[in-house]
Amino acid sequence: MSDYRIETKCIQSGYTPKNGEPRVLPIYQSTTFKYDDSDQMGKLFDLEASGYFYTRLQNPTNDAVAAKICDMEGGYAAMLTSSGQAANFYAIMNIAEAGDHIICSSAVYGGTYNLYAHTIRKMGIQATFVDPDCTPEELDAAFRENTKAVVGETIANPALTVLDIEKFAKAAHAHGVPLIVDNTFATPINCRPFEWGADIVTHSTTKYMDGHASCVGGAIVDSGNFDWTKYADKFPGLTTPDETYHGLVYTERFGKGAYITKATSQMMRDLGSIQSPQNAFLLNIGLETLHLRMPRHCENALKAAEFLKSQEKVAWVNCPSMEGDKYYDLAKKYMPNGTCGVITFGLKGGRDAAVKMMDSLKMIAIVTHVADARSCVLHPASHTHRQMNDKELLEAGVQPDLIRFSVGIENIDDIIDDLKQALEAV
Ligand SMILES: *Cc1c(COP(=O)(O)O)cnc(C)c1O
Repeated sequence: MSDYRIETKCIQSGYTPKNGEPRVLPIYQSTTFKYDDSDQMGKLFDLEASGYFYTRLQNPTNDAVAAKICDMEGGYAAMLTSSGQAANFYAIMNIAEAGDHIICSSAVYGGTYNLYAHTIRKMGIQATFVDPDCTPEELDAAFRENTKAVVGETIANPALTVLDIEKFAKAAHAHGVPLIVDNTFATPINCRPFEWGADIVTHSTTKYMDGHASCVGGAIVDSGNFDWTKYADKFPGLTTPDETYHGLVYTERFGKGAYITKATSQMMRDLGSIQSPQNAFLLNIGLETLHLRMPRHCENALKAAEFLKSQEKVAWVNCPSMEGDKYYDLAKKYMPNGTCGVITFGLKGGRDAAVKMMDSLKMIAIVTHVADARSCVLHPASHTHRQMNDKELLEAGVQPDLIRFSVGIENIDDIIDDLKQALEAV
């Protein structure tokens, strides 16, 4: 970890050119790397030497960007993945297998819910979903003999619940398992979960990190703080010989780097969801301005939330940074400088009014995305959850009138003008 402040890390971490080398991180658009003799390459295959030989395992552009994200989070090691979904999949599969169990906050991204509730279940891993606002006793009761990890989102997409990271970390550690936090919405600019006890952080870099809606991508960062050897029986994949590397033991050989080395040399080797070096290059450009964009997203979101709250036709507004929000106190604790640019709101006219308002927006676009420079909206009842009737929607925790509003970094007056004229049409 460098001693730089977070703003400097956004720009300087991960890549330091030597004399005469390119000032800007180069795109190593090459699948392979050349060696003078076959013995050198053999040592790389055995993980006896470190170096590049095939981009599915490692690539210098990707490694530099992963190292920057690692430094920003205050972690020990990190890797990029092709998407946030791949990051959340590998983060679990790296330490759990058929017969195991995980605990997940029920307020998570829909894709993550499907992945943990259905897809990994077919692979033999069961998930228990807990209310993020549960008591420590309720959380404690969700653990089983075979529980291998606890998972949550710093700020849930789209529920906007704020995770009590310390409460979840304490429970996980009491049961000898790591806490994995998806830090996509907060970004390391606003929250660094390792400082509150989380062990592993994941990201959909597709969102604020990229910031321009240009590349789908993900990242996994390990704090290096979880002692796998202390609970060796629970994590045999890390603490017993890997026959695919001539009996190497990850914790013995790589110490604090065991988790990410295994995820790279085993998960990525076999499952192959790599980020392309071209996309990593674009992600890096996004990261260079993350510290400038996040405060503006937060400032605009709070102003938009306050405007909406003052409107006669608006029934309710969720924004964790707004005084009176259910998660205001937790947000102040974990994210004193701001939360994110995403807010949700509902109209008194319900589902029909929501559709009418969205269709009347001129600048703010209807898109299936969040967390980029442009303001956009999505109406789950008409889009992601459109097959459900109002009763089913409520059971799924989605109010029929809920509009998810990702506030961009345009001038706030233009954003509010657009909201105003669209509300008038309702
Ligand atoms: C979008 C998102 C994901 C999935 O990421 P992709 O890059 O779309 O695969 C995971 N977690 C959160 C919190 C997200 O917002």
